[in-house]
Amino acid sequence: MTERQCKLGLHVMAWLILLVGAGSSGIAQTLEVKHPVLDYQIDQARAGEYEKAVETVMAMSEEEMLSFLPDHAFVRFCECPNCYGGVEGNSIFTWTIDRPDELTCRFCGTVYPNEKYPETHVMTGHNKLGEEISFPYYLNEELGVAHFLSTHVMLHKRGWIQQQCQALGKAYQTTGDERYARRVVLVLDKLAQRYPRYPVMQNGPRLFRFRESQDIPYAWDSGKWGDFHNEIPKSMVYSYDMVCESPEFDRLSRDRGYDVREKLENDVFRPTFDAIAASPYHVGNVVGYDIAGAAELGRIINEPYFVHRAFGWMKRNIDEGFYADGMWKEGSPAYHSMTIGGLRLAFSTVEGYSDPPGYVDPETGQRFDNLDPFLQLPFWAKIQSAPYMLDWPNGRSACVHDTHPYAKTSPQRNATTSTIMPAFGHASLGRGIGGDQMQAQLHFSGAYGHHHFDNLNLSLYAKGNEMLPDVGYTWTQMRYWTVSSLGHNLVVVDRTDQVGGDSDGDLMAYFPDTSGVSVVEADGINAYKNIEGMDQYRRLLVMVPVSDADAYLLDVFRVRGGQIHDWTLNGDADEDSIGQASLPLQGNREWMLEEGEEWEEPTMEGDRFHAYGMVRDVAQAETGGDFHVDFTYEEDRDKGIRVHMLNADPVEVWLGRSPSVRRMGVGTAGDMRKAYDFWMPKLLVRHQSAAPLHSVFTAVHEPYAEQRFIDRVERIDLTPADDDAVAVRITCGNTVDTIISTQDAPPYPERVTSDGISFRGRLGILRQVDGKSTGMWMFDGEKLSADWAMEADHGQFEGTIESAMRVDDGAEHDAFVTDAQLPEGGLLHGVWMIVRHGNGHTHGYEIDRVEQRDGKCLVILSSDHGLRIEGDNTEEVYFPLRKMEGVNSFVIPLATAMSYLP
Ligand SMILES: [Zn+2]
Ligand SMILES: [Zn+2]
Repeated sequence: MTERQCKLGLHVMAWLILLVGAGSSGIAQTLEVKHPVLDYQIDQARAGEYEKAVETVMAMSEEEMLSFLPDHAFVRFCECPNCYGGVEGNSIFTWTIDRPDELTCRFCGTVYPNEKYPETHVMTGHNKLGEEISFPYYLNEELGVAHFLSTHVMLHKRGWIQQQCQALGKAYQTTGDERYARRVVLVLDKLAQRYPRYPVMQNGPRLFRFRESQDIPYAWDSGKWGDFHNEIPKSMVYSYDMVCESPEFDRLSRDRGYDVREKLENDVFRPTFDAIAASPYHVGNVVGYDIAGAAELGRIINEPYFVHRAFGWMKRNIDEGFYADGMWKEGSPAYHSMTIGGLRLAFSTVEGYSDPPGYVDPETGQRFDNLDPFLQLPFWAKIQSAPYMLDWPNGRSACVHDTHPYAKTSPQRNATTSTIMPAFGHASLGRGIGGDQMQAQLHFSGAYGHHHFDNLNLSLYAKGNEMLPDVGYTWTQMRYWTVSSLGHNLVVVDRTDQVGGDSDGDLMAYFPDTSGVSVVEADGINAYKNIEGMDQYRRLLVMVPVSDADAYLLDVFRVRGGQIHDWTLNGDADEDSIGQASLPLQGNREWMLEEGEEWEEPTMEGDRFHAYGMVRDVAQAETGGDFHVDFTYEEDRDKGIRVHMLNADPVEVWLGRSPSVRRMGVGTAGDMRKAYDFWMPKLLVRHQSAAPLHSVFTAVHEPYAEQRFIDRVERIDLTPADDDAVAVRITCGNTVDTIISTQDAPPYPERVTSDGISFRGRLGILRQVDGKSTGMWMFDGEKLSADWAMEADHGQFEGTIESAMRVDDGAEHDAFVTDAQLPEGGLLHGVWMIVRHGNGHTHGYEIDRVEQRDGKCLVILSSDHGLRIEGDNTEEVYFPLRKMEGVNSFVIPLATAMSYLP
């Protein structure tokens, strides 16, 4: 036996001892603590109100009341067979206690049971005890859809009786009237009798069925009491807490011939804990459900072992579930909020908790006395506000990955600056105040659940609108469209989706604000490792102000590999807008499916289909020259965005429309019948040729509110030319910007425009007003010259990291140690260094200052880098907790600017 197996054996033994102990003396254990254990905000002065709230249930016969607790199961999702409105049968019907056996469709008003839709079919299966159980249903034979209407009624009835039990508990607590307690005790006794006979059911949309296995662990959408990480019957546990000390338990126990408390704890509550303990979902976005419930259950039945396990699972979510910058691993602001909301609730269930005297946890050797969960979790504070960095100026979350549109998570801002989540992989270039705030977000994260295939997606907010949106989350059948690569603003290679797993992007450069100009470049090659021979997938964004009110965004997307490159954009998804190209477009193609490709109309959220079938009513042109496309608003024709495209290669321009999805409604307010009611413009610029195809898509995005401000955008030649080098000229009145972008590295070759502007470096911007240079910016460059020149000693610093130190590990600083010679003091303050780890991935870190230490340079960072480096081994302290072998090298790209900004 290995040491690990041996330890495991010991744990199992500890378990057995505990459970045997619980079985024999568990109830005495429960009654050793004063009930109610938890605080239910019971207000003695509201006794009358509590009594009034239970009048209906008190007026029922006991038998009638007990019929509200299911004998076998309930159905979560049920569609209206008359209209199929709403989303996947999720919360379709209204129900009232006045007519407890009826359901009314909130979309068409049809009332069930209904003779037009008789439940003449039956589904039969077995519970764990081998007993046969049947559920009747109405079958829509045309669609092949089953409607378990009468079992869906039990969802509502069950919800009502749970709520009543808690109300009865409150009435009992304030009046001491045993009649109230008796009602709760009866319901709990029925639960104790029925729970062991409940079958394990899968409870998904159009997926109500007996599970093959009736044993724990239950799948995430399955259970006996629960159907979604909620096997612990929390409300019943709370009700038990409120009436636990009632003599009605003893009275009923005498009638029944068994100890009702003991049966409830041993046949219901403890098995639900076992189901949670066996579940693989201890680190996930649902920590507020079962894990919080396990802690509460442990406290109420005085079982400290449960509390210790639950707290351990809560802690694991903090330790394993968040990136170093505080972002939840799924990278969706919505799921971040849900997770920390759940954690907050979960921690509140153990805050101030003390173990019973003498208790020591058999697994950890610890005991809790007046537990302060946050003392052990300094990272908690950083997690709280992390994703607000992704919020638009109006305070709404950017719809990254599965994030519901319109979720307002922070107050409206008056000013916007650039921000970044460097560990997660998302940068936001920002500028402007009031109605002129502008934000361009570049996404380059990996895919760790609830993700979209969206590496290097651009989304743009300007003039009060998400003009180039990431559509976001939907619970409708259109979900795959919002997840697919084509549903984003990026380059789709060979008409296929990016890969999900192990697709983390890499930051190449980030300059949040260099005399008004902001820059980010990221690499997303891992997202297309499914395409053989791909060796470039990289996007550069440069935000350049023209006035206080206006700025344009230069967007250079370089791709090499595959044979079809579709550079694509969504128009506004919230308001009706019109796409108009400067080229005469021809034809009206139904969709972008090719001959022989089949269309399968989606009907369920999980359905997959060919994303190109969602680009509809398309007209086309071919061009080898520059062109532009305008997206303007129907309600406000003076507002919009002009997308100037500059091509070195002949391209096909396809302009059509796609379902905007957002306006179908969010969450359960959605209606799947509206799939094709709302549209957004969809632009596709296609470059195709033999593999490995190389493209440099160069665009200038010009968002405007009252009038456009760019007069001309043109591509200019560079000598020597290079596949990856591009020069662009943007004319706004008497101001002319020349921008040169390369992939050059030191020693940078000199590249010269036909009118004599020369540059050595990676990104150079020259601004001329009335023919005179008034501003120069270099990013990772050494010399830019026109009528005058700007030079820098270094375009970048580079070196290797010898070791790392962290404040959290007891060091004085969060810092890297290098023998590279870097300028001391604050000269590099606010500059972003890019570290390439042994596994090839890069991350960005903001420098605070540089100090000399024992002949080496200490690069002190502005926050925790989250790395432990021992020789050639690097370990991530935060998610994704990788261990990487090899040297950590770095570059520090530098910016130099001399400018007069209008
Ligand atoms: Zn209906
Ligand atoms: Zn998306």
